[in-house]
Amino acid sequence: VVEKGQPEHSLVTTCAYCGVGCSFKAEMRGEELIRMEPYKDGKANHGHSCVKGRFAYGYAHHRDRILKPMLREKITDPWREVSWDEAFAHVATKFRAIQARYGKDAIGGITSSRCTNEETYLVQKLVRAGFGNNNVDTCARVCHSPTGYGLKAAFGTSAGTQDFDSVEHADVVLVIGANPTDGHPVFASRLKKRLRAGARLIVIDPRRIDLVRTPHVEAAHHLALRPGTNVAVLDAIAHVIVTEGLYDEAFVRERCEWSAFEHWASFVAEPRNSPEAVEAVSGVPAAEIRAAARLYATGGNAAIYYGLGVTEHSQGTTTVMAIANLAMATGNLGRPGVGVNPLRGQNNVQGSCDMGSFPHELPGYRHISDDATRQTFEKLWGVSLDNEPGLRIPNMLDAAVDGSFRGIYIQGEDIVQSDPDTHHVTAGLAAMDCVVVHDLFLNETANYAHVFLPGSTFLEKDGTFTNAERRINRVRRVMSPLNGYADWEVTQRLAQAMGLAWHYTHPSEIMDEIAAATPSFAGVSYRRLEDVGSVQWPCNEAAPEGTPVMHIGHFARGLGQFMITEYVPTEERTGPRFPLLLTTGRILSQYNVGAQTRRTANVVWHEEDLLEIHPNDAENRGIRDGDFVRLASRAGETTLRARITDRVAPGVVYTTFHHPATQANVVTTDFSDWATNCPEYKVTAVQVSPSNGP
Ligand code: SF4
Repeated sequence: VVEKGQPEHSLVTTCAYCGVGCSFKAEMRGEELIRMEPYKDGKANHGHSCVKGRFAYGYAHHRDRILKPMLREKITDPWREVSWDEAFAHVATKFRAIQARYGKDAIGGITSSRCTNEETYLVQKLVRAGFGNNNVDTCARVCHSPTGYGLKAAFGTSAGTQDFDSVEHADVVLVIGANPTDGHPVFASRLKKRLRAGARLIVIDPRRIDLVRTPHVEAAHHLALRPGTNVAVLDAIAHVIVTEGLYDEAFVRERCEWSAFEHWASFVAEPRNSPEAVEAVSGVPAAEIRAAARLYATGGNAAIYYGLGVTEHSQGTTTVMAIANLAMATGNLGRPGVGVNPLRGQNNVQGSCDMGSFPHELPGYRHISDDATRQTFEKLWGVSLDNEPGLRIPNMLDAAVDGSFRGIYIQGEDIVQSDPDTHHVTAGLAAMDCVVVHDLFLNETANYAHVFLPGSTFLEKDGTFTNAERRINRVRRVMSPLNGYADWEVTQRLAQAMGLAWHYTHPSEIMDEIAAATPSFAGVSYRRLEDVGSVQWPCNEAAPEGTPVMHIGHFARGLGQFMITEYVPTEERTGPRFPLLLTTGRILSQYNVGAQTRRTANVVWHEEDLLEIHPNDAENRGIRDGDFVRLASRAGETTLRARITDRVAPGVVYTTFHHPATQANVVTTDFSDWATNCPEYKVTAVQVSPSNGP
């Protein structure tokens, strides 16, 4: 809790919640933070903010914060406070002992999309240069990994194509699998302003999200599809565009691989991809699909914004590719007002991916098998690097259950609460010899940890975050770390304990190293960020001012690549035992698993997760509004209260996942995206029945 009053001075920093990346003036008296004031010159938010960034920072001083390192031999033992020196020495000894006994690949690390670019870079460097393998992954695995894969394949870069300002030039906006009002509120305000000024809106979402009908805004088309049928609907839209000749032939001939386009065009033109055929699969009337397709293709500048309702599916990557196909076919790329724009969830999910957090990629999305890239880092780091991709998070857990993976360093990520199939996650962690959790609080994952290293909040460190529009924003240290060390210093001390000669004295030196080895960051430095406020990558000799809109004139890969996007139904099926489909999302006042927002005053706006259920489904089950219900799937069950609403269609239920008491992920399955293993959170066959309570 912070006191109000007159500030003595202020520092400009960046919100640590969502991927909009709003800038704030942190107003202080001494080292005491008095208030967060939205910063008028912030290029992502232009002086606007939401209730999270403005008010939900009290967790920094919450009594639950752990400020001393702790150890225990077994996870059933009580924690024992130790010195930092003892903690680092203990972890180094344990990790080296595991590697001596089980091989160098028996340990790994997980980076955090909540931490800075510099901190993320150091964790992947520790794994690659210190552990000697590529077993590093990120929480982006469970959210936007399909974005990285799909957009790289289509355009050559794993990032959104536009800046947020671009929406001011859009005539048509297609929002699919995203709920900006709750998930990206400041961008949602920009979008609504544009819609009120006359832009037309298409929403593709199983749920009637706020944007569908909100004061002075009404979607031209809401395609309320059955969860899991995104690809079918997008292919049907493409079918209309191709068969009615609505594509931009000049753009495709000049900018894309023409033969791939022809192949794709004949694929989507097949009768099985027609709106009439897809209506049966998706539940969306064919006439609505046809009308939406015509509007997208002929309504002027058309921009697509999407979220986790696109990526968290067994066909997440295919869906991203289908979106890219639509934008290329209609020439909606390479200028303001158009494009393909993933609304990134966490504050630095773009950055954590940029920094080489995936087991197959070094910083800048360059494959680990690429000799020239590997040699760059080998020279810089003074080590030789493994050229084989390492393990992804689910593979690490599989290997742990099998006994070949025995130790992990997890920075700022609660995989027990946030990853799918909780029982599998806990089984994997419980099987390891040394689980190191580096976090603010004793989260659910810490229940399985042998070592706890206290983390620092965004207020306690210098660094940078990269938002959803590739904007690199400065994070400035507002107060000294309560535990004595910023997260980057903790990772450095751990690396030193493992024998690495790291001597960074400030995160700016880490950014200099990133810039030296990563072409898209070549022009980025703290000095530059001081001068201009923020820049969007690529920022280098070719683009010294950064790049608000990508792919002008040509794609990063040269010619744009059309992909065949065959709809494959999810293996998760409804049936007599589990007749309903569950999908999930967030609400405005809370953030993800709620570790931070639940420890702020914002908790009064959301005290529990609720299950939205259609009146017909509720009546059939004898459920009244506010009743406790049992939510069960093939994977597990939980109990929560029902909210009866026609926001969801019959046959569909919806909940948020902010409270550990609900543990919504005990019911989600272990199905995942074919290309990236991103979990299929958005489609789970469930049954809902009355319950007496937890
Ligand atoms: Fe801005 Fe997102 Fe922070 Fe809200 S949560 S203030 S929209 S960055």
